[in-house]
Amino acid sequence: MEKKENLLGYSLETLEDFFKRIEEPKFRAKQLLKWIHQKGVIEFEMMTDFNRPLRERLAEIAVIRPPQVDEVHVSPEGTKKYLIKLDSGSMVEMVRIPEKKRMTLCISSQAGCALQCTFCATGAQGFEKNLTAAEIIGQVWLANFYDSNDSNITNVVFMGMGEPLLNFTPVIESAKIMKDQLAYGLSRKRITISTSGITPQIDQLTSSIDVSLAISLHAPIDSLRDEIVPINKKYPIKMLINSCKNYLSFYEGKRSITIEYILIDGVNDSPELARQLTKLLSNISCKINLIPFNPFDGSNYTRSNKDNINQFKNILMKKGFITTLRVTRGDAIDGACGQLVGKLTKSIKGKKLIKHQSIS
Ligand code: SAH
Ligand code: SF4
Repeated sequence: MEKKENLLGYSLETLEDFFKRIEEPKFRAKQLLKWIHQKGVIEFEMMTDFNRPLRERLAEIAVIRPPQVDEVHVSPEGTKKYLIKLDSGSMVEMVRIPEKKRMTLCISSQAGCALQCTFCATGAQGFEKNLTAAEIIGQVWLANFYDSNDSNITNVVFMGMGEPLLNFTPVIESAKIMKDQLAYGLSRKRITISTSGITPQIDQLTSSIDVSLAISLHAPIDSLRDEIVPINKKYPIKMLINSCKNYLSFYEGKRSITIEYILIDGVNDSPELARQLTKLLSNISCKINLIPFNPFDGSNYTRSNKDNINQFKNILMKKGFITTLRVTRGDAIDGACGQLVGKLTKSIKGKKLIKHQSIS
């Protein structure tokens, strides 16, 4: 029997093609998008503005299936981490992060990651698979509809597991659904794609969809970046800066890029590197987000101490860069940046926590 199509990951355009294929009018696509992503309805039989023969036909050839929630962990400050099981058996994680006026969802685009940045738990795990568009938008769907007591998501960041630009088409398809007024209606400011710097795909992203861009820079010089973000050997800093300039000029100076810079004790946190960073970014419209390193089992790095973090931050601010220090959220449930591995659970002090995959 032919496999049923999962319509959850279809953008408006793709749904219109689908309905064309089954010889139904185009407007069905708009109706379906609303049912799924605004009302949270995934059973065809409940879609009352579809006639019965159509509902039955849809149920024969298609499904609307979000991925499965395996476990949910809540941290004391309200951050919620979901362990999600994909059809393949791989596990990924997503994190709901409450802030004053926002509810941010940090989503995964791949199970594992091939890029092996030396400070990242996901990288240490290796690559398992690319998520489908249904598995990516499915995280947003679950965050909105899985628990009816939860408020809706206002912001989405592709900062969970995986390198989004190495899973380009499904990431773009899901971002289109996030933006669509008939679905989640999130403005481009509220969707951020974070990348370690896959320059050809940054250029492709620029011309494909208008979303916010975050670059995981972490070092201002190639010798150091080659070491901690190995993809830098293929796409060195000069190429990366060019792609950033290309993005900024495409939007005629109306955009700013977020530069992410992790602070690892004794590795990339010296005042000299801070000064080099200001030189490198002098012509780039950006804000800098400093992220104190989050430790994980098997890593030899430690977080920079407070004095060094402040000194680094002050050098950037004195040169006029808007600089923020990311407050670490979700530490207690290993849901902070770079701690996501989607593996193993164990009971600690009677409380269930997600454990990192051990690195052999
Ligand atoms: N692959 C993409 C997106 C996922 S990583 C990227 O690299 O940008 C999301 C962010 O978490 C990146 O800025 C990444 O550098 C950061 N990160 C990874 N490991 C971390 C750790 N151990 N502590 C703090 N931030 C980390
Ligand atoms: Fe992959 Fe991003 Fe982790 Fe690097 S930091 S290994 S690109 S997920």
